[in-house]
Amino acid sequence: MKRLLALLALIAVHATAAGFDYALAPRQIAPDTWVLEGAQEDFSFANGGRIVNTAFVVTDAGVVVIDSGPSRQYGEQTVAAIARITDQPIVKVWITHHHPDHFLGNQAFAPKTLGALARTLTDIETDGKAFNENMFRLVGDAMRDTEVVVPTEALVAGIIEIGGHRFELLALDGHTAGDLAVLDHTTGVLFAGDLVFHDRTPTTPHATIARWLDSLDVLEARPFKHIVPGHGPVAADAGPIRQTRDYLKWLDGLLTQSAAAGLDMTEVMRLPLPKIFRQLAVIDAEFPRSVSHLYPAAEEGALHVSSHPVTH
Ligand SMILES: [Zn+2]
Repeated sequence: MKRLLALLALIAVHATAAGFDYALAPRQIAPDTWVLEGAQEDFSFANGGRIVNTAFVVTDAGVVVIDSGPSRQYGEQTVAAIARITDQPIVKVWITHHHPDHFLGNQAFAPKTLGALARTLTDIETDGKAFNENMFRLVGDAMRDTEVVVPTEALVAGIIEIGGHRFELLALDGHTAGDLAVLDHTTGVLFAGDLVFHDRTPTTPHATIARWLDSLDVLEARPFKHIVPGHGPVAADAGPIRQTRDYLKWLDGLLTQSAAAGLDMTEVMRLPLPKIFRQLAVIDAEFPRSVSHLYPAAEEGALHVSSHPVTH
């Protein structure tokens, strides 16, 4: 028994020294295009925050990375995974929005390669540190030595040609105040960031649902062949966009109706969910969270309506 404990202690020390292994296995989804798929789970010590999809495109003029992931170690392991596939240097790292699972790997990349929408830069400056501290609480040692790095380049909407790939940057919002989506016209791959969730409940801590729905319309109208959602499986049609739209519309309607009926927040959290949404990953955690994020505004709206009766 003593020897076993000693052995276990040794293994534990070893695991700590080696760091957290994300076991990143890039999957090719289109010419020059790989995705690192995250788990359909909440943040945990076991997944190290790897619940997000990141991606990279190997062009003739270097590698373009979409999102750097949840931690320094994830970023470093992404760099290593890319080096196993190509000798090309990483020339761009485009961050889709300021949520921690998407940008806390920034440290692993050369600062001059990092870019995001101007609003995202500001929001990382404002919220980044608190997000980072919270991630340490949620996923533990996988976050070791992770620090916030604010991207240097402010991206603007438009076309960028890199090494034979024609990228279109779409400056949108709604999931947050700044949501970047990237369409590679050369391959037809649309990197949607968290504007699109697939088989997973959308998260709403910084959401404006009306704006988000507008952004989904913009995405659906783009000529893509593959869509990489921020979370959930890659798809070859607009299914994930429609799924995200259906959920957001239902959620918005439910909150408005509940507020009009005078329900309090805990009552709304306990409402039965339609079967179609009960199948979404992490619904039991995310639905109550969304109620807490969005219900105060819905109640405010209901109050406003009732205190300003329409007169004819
Ligand atoms: Zn997000």
